[in-house]
Amino acid sequence: MAIVTDGRQPRWSRRHKKWIHAHRIPIHRQTIRDVRHHCGQIQFLSFAGGSELKIEGLFTTRGDIYFSRLAEGLGAKVNRDGDIIVGLDMRTTVKGLYAAGCVTPANCQMIIAAGQGATAAQAINRDLFEEGLAKLSLKISKRSR
Ligand SMILES: Cc1cc2nc3c(=O)[nH]c(=O)nc-3n(C[C@H](O)[C@H](O)[C@H](O)COP(=O)(O)OP(=O)(O)OC[C@H]3O[C@@H](n4cnc5c(N)ncnc54)[C@H](O)[C@@H]3O)c2cc1C
Repeated sequence: MAIVTDGRQPRWSRRHKKWIHAHRIPIHRQTIRDVRHHCGQIQFLSFAGGSELKIEGLFTTRGDIYFSRLAEGLGAKVNRDGDIIVGLDMRTTVKGLYAAGCVTPANCQMIIAAGQGATAAQAINRDLFEEGLAKLSLKISKRSR
């Protein structure tokens, strides 16, 4: 087992650092240049500088990066962690703006993101329908005057 940071500075806590040290897990800080495989089976990571690491598997971590700036720019409220605040129907604090998936405080899992997406779609459908009804009733009431 090894940790590869792809040229980035590791940002783990003191506790995790202690565990990594205790388990003698090697850390490779070089930038990855290439991933070599044989018939789809991963075999080596090649680093800038020419060194290689023989591997049988690779697991990437997502990191805690929130792509909520667009929503924030539109005025949506986010919590301290940067997640977009949503209600049960995935409505944000801005009318007509909905959020689903990893940008919300929910657990970042595919099935949750998909479920929230479906919930948001239903809320959008309902809101558009009600908006349409309101406009229609406005027209009807104007005509009947
Ligand atoms: C390495 C890794 C392993 C994972 N393993 C699992 C697992 O085993 N099981 C599981 O359930 N989940 C897993 N996940 C999490 C899963 O991928 C997410 O829960 C899921 O993709 C969330 O979907 P999403 O639509 O919220 O976000 P995403 O899939 O990230 O989609 C967001 C999209 O929006 C785009 N975007 C961002 N900003 C903008 C912008 N300003 N304009 C236009 N487009 C923009 C992005 O490019 C991206 O395509 C894993 C994630 C990673 C990274």
